[in-house]
Order: sequence, then C-alpha cells, then structure tokens
Amino acid sequence: MLIVMKKGTTEQQVEGVVATAEKRGYMARPIPGGDRVSIGILYNKGSVDAAHFLGLDGVKEVIAVTKPYKLVSREVKQENTIVDAGGVLFGDGSMPVLAGPCAVESEEQALTIARAVKKAGAAMFRGGAFKPRSSPYSFQGLGKEGLEILARVRTETGLPVATEVMDIETFDMVETYADVVQIGTRNMQNFSLLKRAGKSHRPILLKRGMSATLQEWLMAAEYIMEEGNDQVILCERGVRTFVKHSRNTLDLSVVPAAKKESHLPLIVDPSHAAGVRDQVSPLAYAAAAVGADGLMVEVHHLPEEAMSDGAQSLYPNQFEVLMKKVNAIHRIAGDTQ
Ligand code: PEP
Ligand code: MN
Repeated sequence: MLIVMKKGTTEQQVEGVVATAEKRGYMARPIPGGDRVSIGILYNKGSVDAAHFLGLDGVKEVIAVTKPYKLVSREVKQENTIVDAGGVLFGDGSMPVLAGPCAVESEEQALTIARAVKKAGAAMFRGGAFKPRSSPYSFQGLGKEGLEILARVRTETGLPVATEVMDIETFDMVETYADVVQIGTRNMQNFSLLKRAGKSHRPILLKRGMSATLQEWLMAAEYIMEEGNDQVILCERGVRTFVKHSRNTLDLSVVPAAKKESHLPLIVDPSHAAGVRDQVSPLAYAAAAVGADGLMVEVHHLPEEAMSDGAQSLYPNQFEVLMKKVNAIHRIAGDTQ
C-alpha cells in the first residue's frame, strides 16, 4: 500500500504516519517524489486497512499497490528516477552511452580504448576486471589490477567507470573503484549479492537474467531497493531463444513494458545480445528509437586480439558512426513516454 502525503507535508507528519504503521507491525518507507512525499507500506501480509491512515495529519490519499514489486513500481513512484553515476545522469531524458572493452586487459589497452570512445562522445567507460566466463580455462580478468587500471582511466580521461562485481567477497573492493557497480546476467537472481548491492553507496547496473521474465527482473531490482539503494539502472542484454543467427535475442519490447511498470532508468546492451559485430549498430539504433535511457557498447581497438568478446566488439571508427546516428535518432524518437 502507498500513502500519498499532501504537498508541503512536514517531517513530523511523515514521522507520524511511519510511527502509526510501525505500531501496527508494518514497515513504512518514505519515498521522496517530485513535489510530494509518499510512504510505502512493506511486509504486509494481506491487505492493510486504509482507514488506519486516512485520517492522519498530512495524508492525502491511500492507494493499494497491486504488483508484487513495490519500491520499483510506478504505482509507488510515478516520476522517472534519475540515477547519478559519477556525474552522468540516467533517466533524465538524455542518452548516455557506456563504452569500452569486454575486459580490462592492460593499462595501454584500456587507455587507448577509453580515449577513443571519449572522443566519439561516450559518457562512461566500461570494462570488466572480474569476468564471469563459461569456461574456467578462459581469461578470468585482471582482478584488483584491473580495478586499479580503471581508476587510472578515470583520472586520465575524466570518464566515470562501470565494472562488474561477481561476488560478495570482492564487493567492498569493487565499489571502492567503480562509479557504477554492474551485476551481470548470471547473477541477476543471486539474492545475497543483490542484498549486498542494496547496501552499496554506488549506483547498481542490473543486467537482465538471460531467461528472466520482466517480473523476475523487477523483483531482483526490488531486492536492491528494499535494502535502501534506490540508484538502480536496468540493462536489457538479450535473452536466450532458439535462434542461431545471434548470441541472444535482444528483447526490445521489454523497454516500453519495463518503463510502464517501473520508474527506474533502463539501458540496452546490443553487444551481448548480438554476439557479432555487424548486428550491434543496427540494434543500438533500434534501442534509441524504442526509448532506452542509454546504451552499453563493447569497443576494442584490436578486437581480433581481444581476450574476450572480440567478435562483438566494434572498432573505434564504427563506434564513432554509431554515436552520431544514436544521437540523431534520440533527438527524434527519444521521448517515447
Ligand atoms: C558484461 O557486460 O561484461 C557481461 C559479462 O555481460 P552479461 O552479464 O550481460 O553477459
Ligand atoms: Mn563481454
């Protein structure tokens, strides 16, 4: 249930509602909105009697929340959430692009690519230091050394950095270096990792599980928000289907569907969806047209020598073209809400 407060409500009035809810055994979570505060009632088993709250000082109305997810839901918060990722805003109507290699391989590699993507207009640098690989024999990432390289990339280029966290053990370390902490597709339902992400002071980029429904994805985001972190960016990266012409199938219809259900910003990663370079740019244009709040694109200056995902990495000159076209499409079609 959601208690909507009147405009100009005082802190005491909000505290009064919270105290009433807690006295009745519920947990109440104030949610600041554009011009008024709402209070979400959580952990209620069965319906809550609106009459307990309707007469309280400052209360405007009481709305039943019908979805299993609450904090991520548009029923609870109507206006878009804007996530501030090291100064880059997601969800404000702009179209920031995170670009970089699949994995950080060396300082020279990361810096070369970072300079190229910055020149083309990328807002953030991406690169994995801890890589979730299907085979234990594949390159696993540089670990801490990779994080240190990312920090140097940020200092050198001014680009904030996004990198993946794979487990709770390394979370403290990753969040010290990253401006955005990424949870990958294979960990979308790693609930203890989601809870740890909810305690982080960094924005979380939550990739969709490769066979997750929209509801499962939003429930994963709910885990993060429930622990207190409301800075969550959703990332569609393709789902598993029967096709063989691409690595995954980019589910672009989930963009309007998710944005209808949730106030959280949603970006699209065409690289992991496609798996092959020549599909990446067309999918990026489609994502811009369908109203994505940003993109994540893999770029490598020497993709044939890349230690992971070279086949789907764009050459820097291809990325430059992508940026120009994405910006043009976003100007025409970006405002799909
Ligand atoms: C990545 O972005 O580096 C990655 C591993 O992606 P995903 O989790 O979507 O496979
Ligand atoms: Mn990759």
